Amino acid sequence: MTTAAAPTDGRTFRRYDAGLGDGPYADRCRTDQYDAVVAGGGPAGAAAALTLARAGRTVLLADAGSGPPKTGESLVPAARLLLHDLGVDIRSLDADHRPCRATLSAWGSPHLHRTDFITDPYGHGWHLDRPAFDRLLRAAVRAHRAEVAERATVTHPAPHHGGGWQVTVCADGTARPVRCRWLVDATGRRAALATRCGARRHRYDRLVAVHLRLTAGPADTEGASLVESAPDGWWYTAPHNPAHRLVTYFTDTDLAPPGLGHTRTYLDRLAATRHTARLAIGRSPLAGTAPRRSAAHTARLEPLAGEGWIAAGDAAIAFDPLSSQGILTALYSGLCAGQAIDARLRGEADALDGYAERLGETFDAYRYGHRQIHIGEERWRSRPFWQRRRSPEGPGLLAHRGANDLPR
Ligand SMILES: Cc1cc2nc3c(=O)[nH]c(=O)nc-3n(C[C@H](O)[C@H](O)[C@H](O)COP(=O)(O)OP(=O)(O)OC[C@H]3O[C@@H](n4cnc5c(N)ncnc54)[C@H](O)[C@@H]3O)c2cc1C
Repeated sequence: MTTAAAPTDGRTFRRYDAGLGDGPYADRCRTDQYDAVVAGGGPAGAAAALTLARAGRTVLLADAGSGPPKTGESLVPAARLLLHDLGVDIRSLDADHRPCRATLSAWGSPHLHRTDFITDPYGHGWHLDRPAFDRLLRAAVRAHRAEVAERATVTHPAPHHGGGWQVTVCADGTARPVRCRWLVDATGRRAALATRCGARRHRYDRLVAVHLRLTAGPADTEGASLVESAPDGWWYTAPHNPAHRLVTYFTDTDLAPPGLGHTRTYLDRLAATRHTARLAIGRSPLAGTAPRRSAAHTARLEPLAGEGWIAAGDAAIAFDPLSSQGILTALYSGLCAGQAIDARLRGEADALDGYAERLGETFDAYRYGHRQIHIGEERWRSRPFWQRRRSPEGPGLLAHRGANDLPR
């Protein structure tokens, strides 16, 4: 294993060109010191690692592979621009992911409204195969000679007496101590490392997603996603891949009907919808599957960065999936986080302030738009789900609770 002393000026740690061969993870590592360790290999982590590697910094990107189920997500057309800026070859997006050409919505009225992306200056979006999308981004990180460790968890961040951080990277049953000057928390909604560096997660609501995968049918050729509001939440459905369609019900944890985790109860609820049921008709749950839950609340970290660490993606600001902006914002914040670290390494003292300001503005704009959209649904204005989101204060800050307080 090669090591280099931690430079105290703007120089980077020595760069290591050897490729990762086969064998146990610890034997394959090029070094145990990096300019940055990025924890989390989703879009935010990959964007941060790419930005730093392209700036000539030494980077370890470690992904635990433990993320929430990522099915049926769509990527908005504007992502084209960010991916281009990150140097990702977007041709493979078109090759490996189904185009999303329109969104259908029954929101504020029982009638279906169609928005075609043909009017969007960036073209169509995509129904993502999320694991394939994450692999595409991580391949781009590798192509810029950064180290990528799969199924590797970053734990125990602690300030190093010589400056920077020491973390433990656990993979293949081994725990490897690693030193870095900057730590990027891109671990998703749990913000696993930033919360250990003293930051607090603020939750703004109790939104939960309960999803079920159905077998495919003829209408899946259309390539549109659909949103339909309901008295206590809203439904979403999209063709996921040629093999199935995803249906998701979003509601607050305290408003979820008992037994929603059981397929029968779930299908009964689904049958009561007007448009989502039409697309689900004639399909059955994929063999061996049942409704699965995942956290979908709005959240923000405070602060977003500190000396030697920075949070990006859902770890920093997490949006209601209704916005369809989660992946775009993860890419954007990852890019900005990488730029802020590189600027700090070049001696720009206020780079972190600029980062916090940009993300703060993004979050405020999201919160404004979120309220306006919910005000647009008048039919159930007196129901708690809609009341909470229409009030000028929004659903309000909730005391920090684990992401697991979901309905049974
Ligand atoms: C139900 C639902 C539907 C959604 N639909 C959409 C949609 O249609 N369009 C959209 O744009 N967004 C959507 N989103 C939001 C989107 O999924 C997220 O915003 C996006 O994945 C955030 O990316 P990220 O990189 O911050 O985190 P993640 O994608 O969550 O990645 C975090 C990664 O960190 C890893 N990790 C965790 N802890 C550690 C650790 N200690 N060490 C190393 N690695 C670690 C995990 O394994 C994971 O791979 C949806 C979200 C939900 C809940």
